[in-house]
Amino acid sequence: GNAARIQAIQTITNRQPMPPKAPSSLDSLWASDVFTLNKMKESLPKEVFKSLKKTVETSSELDVSIADVVALAMKDWALSKGALYYAHVFYPLTNATAEKHDGFISVQSDGSVISEFSGKVLVQGEPDGSSFPNGGIRSTFEARGYTAWDVTSPAFIMTTDNGATLCIPTVFVSWTGEALDKKTPLLRANAAMNKAAKRVLSLLGHTDIAPVNSSCGAEQEYFLVDANFVSGRPDLLLAGRTLFGTSPAKGQQFDDHYFGAIPERVQVFMQDVEEQLYKLGIPAKTRHNEVAPGQFEIAPFFESANVATDHQQLLMTVLKNTAKKHGLVCLLHEKPFKGINGSGKHVNWSVGNATQGNLLDPGSTPHSNTQFLLFCGAVIRGVHKFGPLLRAAIATASNDHRLGANEAPPAIMSVYLGSQLDNVFEQISKGEITGSLNAGIMDLGIKTLPTFNKDAGDRNRTSPFAFTGNRFEFRAVGSGQSVAGPLVAMNTMLADSLNWVADALETELAKGATLDTAILAVLKEIIDNHGAVVFGGNGYSAEWHKMAVEERGLRNLRTAADALPVLKEKPIEALFEGLGVLSPVELASRFDIYAEQYILAIEVEAKLVVSMTKTGIYPAVVKYLAELSSTISSLKSNGVELGSETLIKISTLLNTLMATVDKLSTAIGQHDFADTEAHMQFCAQTIRPLMDEARSYADALESEVTDELWPFPTYQEMLFIK
Ligand code: ADP
Ligand code: MG
Repeated sequence: GNAARIQAIQTITNRQPMPPKAPSSLDSLWASDVFTLNKMKESLPKEVFKSLKKTVETSSELDVSIADVVALAMKDWALSKGALYYAHVFYPLTNATAEKHDGFISVQSDGSVISEFSGKVLVQGEPDGSSFPNGGIRSTFEARGYTAWDVTSPAFIMTTDNGATLCIPTVFVSWTGEALDKKTPLLRANAAMNKAAKRVLSLLGHTDIAPVNSSCGAEQEYFLVDANFVSGRPDLLLAGRTLFGTSPAKGQQFDDHYFGAIPERVQVFMQDVEEQLYKLGIPAKTRHNEVAPGQFEIAPFFESANVATDHQQLLMTVLKNTAKKHGLVCLLHEKPFKGINGSGKHVNWSVGNATQGNLLDPGSTPHSNTQFLLFCGAVIRGVHKFGPLLRAAIATASNDHRLGANEAPPAIMSVYLGSQLDNVFEQISKGEITGSLNAGIMDLGIKTLPTFNKDAGDRNRTSPFAFTGNRFEFRAVGSGQSVAGPLVAMNTMLADSLNWVADALETELAKGATLDTAILAVLKEIIDNHGAVVFGGNGYSAEWHKMAVEERGLRNLRTAADALPVLKEKPIEALFEGLGVLSPVELASRFDIYAEQYILAIEVEAKLVVSMTKTGIYPAVVKYLAELSSTISSLKSNGVELGSETLIKISTLLNTLMATVDKLSTAIGQHDFADTEAHMQFCAQTIRPLMDEARSYADALESEVTDELWPFPTYQEMLFIK
C-alpha cells in the first residue's frame, strides 16, 4: 500500500547523490576499449593486417589462415585490458543482445593453466542457442546454431560488475546455414544494395566505383524513473509500461521550468553514459531537449549501418546498465506512460561510397544532381512498392501505442520530400519544365530540368519517411527496437529499385536514347507510377488517412496484427528471395517469431491487469469504502448527514472494474484459434480494448480514492521525483 510509496519517496530524498566523474579528455577515452584497425596495425604482421583491412573495408571474404595470428593479438590486447573472458555477441530475433561467455583459461594435460584463444575460437563459436526463438528452422535433433565472427564490426571490451569481457560481434546461423539473427540479413541486404547501386553508377559513366555501403544514425529517446518506484509497479517491472495511472493534473502542458533544467542526478548519469560510449568508440551526444517530463534523448553520429546497428544495441545496454548503477530504471518502451509523449528511434539512413560520396546528397555538380535524383527516385519507388514491408518491420505490440496516435507518424507509409524537390518531380512528371520553384541555384545539368536550392530547411514532423537534406529519416521506428529490421527493409527495397532503374536505363539506352533523355524517362516513369506515396501535408489529419487509402491506394495497417502478415505475402517473399536476403523459410520463421512475441507481450500485460486489479486496487478501494461507510454511519448516529454519493460512485466503479477484469480473464483463457493471424487479431480487437476499459475504471478510481491508500506509485511521483 501507500507505506511502500512513502518509503520510496523517503529513500529517494535521502539518497547520497552519485558524485560526478572528473572529466577525462576525449583523446584518452576515445575507443580505448575497442580493438580498432589502428591497434591491429600496431600488433599484426604487415601482410596479415593488409588482408584483414581489405576484408573490413570491402566486406570481401576473410582469409581464415590469418585467424590464429589475429586471435593471438586480440587476446594479448584483451588481457592487457584485464579481460578474463571472451564472448561471441549475437543478435537473436528478440531485439535483445545475446552473449556466450568463455574463459581464456585452458587447463593443460599436466594440470597447469594457460590463457588460450585460437583462430578457430575467434572465428566460430557454438552457443547453446536452443533457447532462442528460431521459428521452426532448427529441428530439435539439431537444435544448435553457430556464431561466426563479423570482421567488419570491431571487437571491444565490455566492463560490468562481473569483470571485463572481450566481446566479438558475430552472426548467428543454423548448421544448415539459415540466418537465426538480425545481423546476417543486414549484411546480405547491404551486399544486394551495393551490387545494384554499382550497376546504376556504372551506367551513369563512373569507372572507379568503391563498394557502396549504407549509413545509419539513430536518435534514441528514453525515460528515466527512480528504481524505488519501479519496484512498486509490477507493470513497469514486467511489461516496461504502466497499465494503470492517471496523468498529472496538467497533462502534457507542464510548466516550462520542468523542461529547462535537467536534474543534477540525470546529468551525472548522462556524463557516465557518454564516457562509457566514448570508450566503446560510439560517437554519441546526449540531448537535453526532452519532450515529456522524465524523457531524454541520445543521438550518436552516423556510421556504417552494420556498425551503427551493433552500436545501437550496445548503447541500449549501456543506458540500462548505467541507469541501474545510478538507482534509476531506463525505460526503452515506446509508450511507458499514457497521455505523455512516447519514445521513438529516428533512423537516419543514406547510401554512399568512397568514390562517389553520399548518393542521397544533391551535391554541387550537375552530374551529381541527376545521380541524386535517380537514387532519390529509387527510394520513392521502394517506399511505394514496399511501404507495407516498412510497416511490418516496425510492428510490435509496444510500437502500436505510438503509431498514428498523433504524436508519432501514422501507420500509413508515405514519403516527404520538401516543397522544392516535390516541385522538381512534379515538373518531370508533367514533362513541361519551366523553372524552379524558388530562384534556384542548383544546376541539374540536364537543360530541361529546373534548378533548385538544396535546403533541408522545410521539415515535416508528421511524415514517417522524410528526406532531410542528404538522407532519409525513418521516424516510425520504435525506441526499444533493434534498427536492423528497418535497415534490412530499406536496403532491400532500395536494391530492388536500383536494379529496376538499371534495367530501365539499359532499355532506354538500347533504344538509342542519350543518357540524359534516358534518365529523364526513367525519372518520369518512377514519379508517374509511384508518386502517390509522396505526401507533404499533415500526416496526422483525418483527411490524409481517407485520401491515402481511398484515392492513393496506400495501405493503412493500423496494428501489428494487421502489419505482420505482410511478411507472408508473395511479392515480399519474392523480393527477399530474389535478392538473396532471406529465403522463404527464413522469412516464414520471422513471421512466426514476431507474431508469437506480439501475442506474448499482450498476454503478459493482460495478466498483469488482472493481478494488479485483484491484489492491489480492489483491496485498497474496499478498505477505503469500509472507512467511508463507517464514517457515514458514525456521523449519522451523531446526527450529522454525510452524503453517500461518493460511496455509491466508488462502489459502482469498482463493480464495473471487476466485471471487466472477469471478462478479460476469460478472454486470456481462450486458445482455440484457426491460425496465428486470428490469434493476433483477437489480441488486438478483444484483449487490448478490455485492458483499456479496465484501465479507464481503475484510473477513475485513482482520482476518487484517498491517496493514502493508493497501492501504486503515481504518475506525478514517477515523472517528477528524482
Ligand atoms: P534531427 O533534426 O532529426 O534531430 P540531427 O541532425 O540532430 O537531426 O541528427 C540526425 C542524425 O542523422 C545524426 O545521428 C546524424 O549523424 C545522422 N546523419 C547525418 N547524415 C547522415 C547520413 N548521411 N546517413 C545517415 N545518417 C546521417
Ligand atoms: Mg530526427
